Formats: sequence, structure tokens, C-alpha cells
Amino acid sequence: MAAIPQPARAAARLSDIPSVDRLLGDAGSAALIARHGRSQLLSALRALLSEAREQVLRGQASPEALAVATLLAQARDRLAVAARPRLQAVFNLTGTVLHTNLGRALLPEAAIQAVVQAMQAPANLEFNLATGRRGDRDDLIGELICELTGAEAATVVNNNAAAVFLMLNALANRREVIVSRGELVEIGGAFRVPDIMQRAGAKLREVGTTNRTHTADYEQAITARTGLLMKVHCSNYAISGFTHSVEVDAMARIARAAGIPSAVDLGSGTLLDLTQWGLPKETTVRQTIESGADIVTFSGDKLLGGPQAGLLVGRRELIQRIKKNPLKRALRVGKLTLAALEPVLQLYRDPEHLAQRLTTLRLLTRPMGEMRQQALRLQAHVQQAVTRQYTVSAEPLFSQIGSGALPVDQLPSYGLGIRSSGAGRGGKALHALEQRLRQLPRPVIGRIAQDTLWLDLRCLEPADEAAFTAQLEAPDA
Ligand SMILES: *Cc1c(COP(=O)(O)O)cnc(C)c1O
Repeated sequence: MAAIPQPARAAARLSDIPSVDRLLGDAGSAALIARHGRSQLLSALRALLSEAREQVLRGQASPEALAVATLLAQARDRLAVAARPRLQAVFNLTGTVLHTNLGRALLPEAAIQAVVQAMQAPANLEFNLATGRRGDRDDLIGELICELTGAEAATVVNNNAAAVFLMLNALANRREVIVSRGELVEIGGAFRVPDIMQRAGAKLREVGTTNRTHTADYEQAITARTGLLMKVHCSNYAISGFTHSVEVDAMARIARAAGIPSAVDLGSGTLLDLTQWGLPKETTVRQTIESGADIVTFSGDKLLGGPQAGLLVGRRELIQRIKKNPLKRALRVGKLTLAALEPVLQLYRDPEHLAQRLTTLRLLTRPMGEMRQQALRLQAHVQQAVTRQYTVSAEPLFSQIGSGALPVDQLPSYGLGIRSSGAGRGGKALHALEQRLRQLPRPVIGRIAQDTLWLDLRCLEPADEAAFTAQLEAPDA
């Protein structure tokens, strides 16, 4: 680049720095005070002035940089950044419907209304309206859960990891828990069955091998120290080939004969047979209870489609023991969770409307034709936004349910495939685009595979489409 001669600029002096009072008294400060408060503006200005002082001392400040308007504009920008919510709405176009990093299940409208109400008004969280005495928060949803699962009793904690932890501590503290080696899984986010067990005070007694476990393995491992027989759903991986595992009914029979409780960590809480909606088969909570499991644990925000929660259902006396454990108090759910959970469970009482009203199920069952039409509609918008540097095409692809539910099953879906138009170095251009999409006002999260940036449209519901295209058309998108 040719050197352009710069006019010699006078370096600013310390006396050019305006005082805090001068800045605060400027008309430009009024709007910032109204918006952020005087104390926030004051700290922002003090920080800016101290930086200005250092720059002046280093001879790096121009008088213009110390102008009142310049400093106030910087304060405005900093305050705006600091006030921006860190938890932001995004577009989940990853193709993973229950994406743990993107918050898993989206709540249906009825749950949203209930949460808003629970935040705004006092509620009978632990208050029995019939007797006027103290109530039990589990009573709000206990009956509903039992109706939907066939269990005798139920309780709820913060998530399924907490449910498993509490169950192990309440039923098997200082005792052995027999688990098949094929089920000693890590669920991600550091939930490992052996670690949880140790922290809960239970001693893991592994039986069988990674690929094969038989009833005799459980029977032979039972001793006077055994506290629990347990099965864990292999949510996020599949063992195939020469395999054998003991079904819940067989394990429950062995446990009962030995006078020991049996538990199943189901992971995803499937309350109804999903094959009726064309989805892969997944054992339901009711089937697991009917198979004889004494306790079943599952998540509220996986296939169940509700808020983050861990549900424990099963025999009354065992649920009572679990509820009396002091850890229950530490792991209990708040009113917002219960407010959201109740209407979600209510939706399950009406299976005919479930696929329409339960957001998770609606997304998982979106008709292919609808997603294809949407892809064709959006193709031109996205093509225009990304310019001819990229080629956008509407293509069939595969979504995943996510959150470890049915890891090997993929759902045929439709979306946009974006490829770099230039030969070579396509990877760099794709990553640059992926980053730009992530920095939009409502970030768009896609997925790069096979030199293509995929935007799976399964989770872009028609109601959100206008918001999606509007920000693409914004000048700096
Ligand atoms: C997901 C999962 C968990 C953890 O559930 P969270 O609700 O995420 O705490 C535990 N066990 C199994 C089998 C799971 O799939």
C-alpha cells in the first residue's frame, strides 16, 4: 500500500481529558442515565477516562478521541453490550430436535402460560387448599404421573441425573448395586453411571460382559450386601451383533425372588407408544412398570417434551423412602418447573391432539412435504443473503431426535445445503459463513458436514419463518 502522508496531529494532553462531571452533565448523558442508571454510567465513564489517561501518557491519544461526544458514544456501546442478555433465542437448524446444548424440549403454549402465571401470582405450591394446611408439592402432579404411567407413586427432582442419584442414595447407600457391564454408560455432560453410583454411596457390582449379560449373571452376584438391581437405558449408543441383555421383566423377577428392589433408568421419558406417529419404537414408562420394575427414572425434557426435571415413579413404599431422604430437599424442583410440567402431562391425557399440541412431538412428526415446501420457499432468500459466493440448494437430509434418545434412528427431513462456489478452500468459506450466521441478532445454528453447511428446517416452524428471513434481508446479514 502506498504511504499516504498524514498531517502531523497534535498529541492530546492530560488537560484535554474532560472531567466525569462534565460528561455526566452533558445532554448526551441524560438518555444513558434514563436507560442504564447513573451508577452504571458513572462506572463506564470512569473506566473510559482511566483508559484515556493511559493513552495520553503513552502519547497515543488524539484530541478527537477525548471529545465529549466520542467518550459518551463509547460509554453507550459498552453499556449496551453489558446489558445484552447472554441467554439468547437462536434458530436450531442443527437437525437435532432435542439438542442438549440448545436447551432440549420447547414448551407447549399451555406450559408457557402456566409458567408466566406462576411467576406473577402466589400459588398453592405447598398449600393444601382443602384443609388450609401445609401441602406437598409432589401432590400437584403425582396423580397425573401415576395415571399416565400406571405407577403407584411418583416424585420429581431437578433432572434425571438427580433422580438416579437420589434413588441410589435412598435405596442402596452402603450397599451393592448390580448392573450389567453393557449398561455402564456415559450420557455426556459427565453423567457416568459408575461415578454417580460412587457419589451416591452405592457400590457398583458389574456383571456380564460388554456385549452379553444373562439372568444367571444377576442371580450369582446377589449377596447379603446387595441393595438394588438396576438397568440403565443405553441412550446414546447401540450395541449390535452378538449381544444379549436381560429384559426388565427377568431382572425384576430375580430381584423380587431375592427380596431386593429393581430399578430402571429409562433416560427418555416416553409416555406413549411413538410408533403410532411413525417414530421409532421406544419402551414406555408404563411398559417398564408393567414389566415389574419397582422404580423407573426418566427426564422431563427429552422425549416427554416438558421442562428440565427428573421423574421417579414406582412402588409407594420405595417412593416414600426416596422422598424422606434429606437429599430430596436439596434436589427438589421449583414452582416454575411444576407449573410447566403439569400442563405437559395433561396433554398426554388426550393422545389425539398430542402431535399438534406438544411441541417436541409436533417437530418430530412434521410432514416431509411441508418441510420440502419450506426449503423451496427459503432457498432464494438464503441464496440472496449469502451472495453468489455460495450455492444454496433444497435437499432431503436426516434429522436426529437427540438427547441420546434413539441414537441410531434418523428422521428423514428437508433443509438447505450451502456449499462454497469457489473451487478449493471451500471449508474456510463455509466456516466463515457458519460464524456469520451465528452472529446474527437471533443466531442461526447449522451443522457442517461433507463440505456443506446444512440448515435442517425441521425445527423452523412456519410461525418463525418470517423472523428467520427478515434478519437475512437486513443489510449486514
Ligand atoms: C439423559 C439421561 C440421563 C440424564 O438425564 P438428565 O435429565 O439430562 O439429567 C440419565 N440417564 C440416561 C439413561 C439418560 O439418557
